[in-house]
Amino acid sequence: MGNDVLESFKGAYEAEVSLTGKEILQQLVKNAEIACEEKVPMCQDTGYAVIFVELGQDVRIEGGDFYEAINEGVRKGYTEGYLRKSIVSHPLERKNTGDNTPAVIHTKIVPGDSLRIIIAPKGGGSENMSAIKMLRPADGIEGVKNFVIDTVKKAGPNPCPPIVVGVGIGGTFEKAAQLAKESLLRELGEKSKYPDIAKLEEDLFEEINKLGIGPQGLGGRTTALAVHVEIYAAHIASLPVAVNLNCHAARHKEVIF
Ligand code: SF4
Repeated sequence: MGNDVLESFKGAYEAEVSLTGKEILQQLVKNAEIACEEKVPMCQDTGYAVIFVELGQDVRIEGGDFYEAINEGVRKGYTEGYLRKSIVSHPLERKNTGDNTPAVIHTKIVPGDSLRIIIAPKGGGSENMSAIKMLRPADGIEGVKNFVIDTVKKAGPNPCPPIVVGVGIGGTFEKAAQLAKESLLRELGEKSKYPDIAKLEEDLFEEINKLGIGPQGLGGRTTALAVHVEIYAAHIASLPVAVNLNCHAARHKEVIF
């Protein structure tokens, strides 16, 4: 977990008015500190290994299958690190693969000669509360707000709040979902570079924290630690909106070669 999440727990503790909420936030800080000191996971669900690769177009990968190498890293990390193995090989037969592979890998070709790999383990509880909707363009910004708030409201305590709300608007069905996921990689609270979208993030953050769900769903002001919105061009007939919720165990790390 990054310092940004720990700092946001501390900030939320100061702002929280519910005594139970304060108590939980204090426990979350303590839990995160123990996890850091003792090098153990902050939650038993150590997630689906979601990997984002930015491959410089001048890079050449030699010596084997790149995706197999990533999966080997995931295998070693989860086995040698004693992290929970949470992946089943077939969604209906549900037999555990035993080493948390395969990873979900998203690759982007970018200018340059470096290779950036980000790992963002994703907990199942919060992933299950995510949603996507194909709105009509006429639904506009109010339609977007209503869908995001409704998704958080329906999720209630299930995504282990306080949560990070990732929103993707535009593109196609799958692009919106990917934007929502990517938005979770931002440092907590880092604003969109578009002023109107930064304002939408602020408005959603305020509205979501008025819902009263609170830390672990036991009431309070701290339902969300941040709302991040990413946008993309849309078809004249479409307004896709995806909401990917992340729990308070918001983890991501990157390496650049
Ligand atoms: S949703 Fe997050 S905090 Fe809740 S059990 Fe899963 S990983 Fe842990």
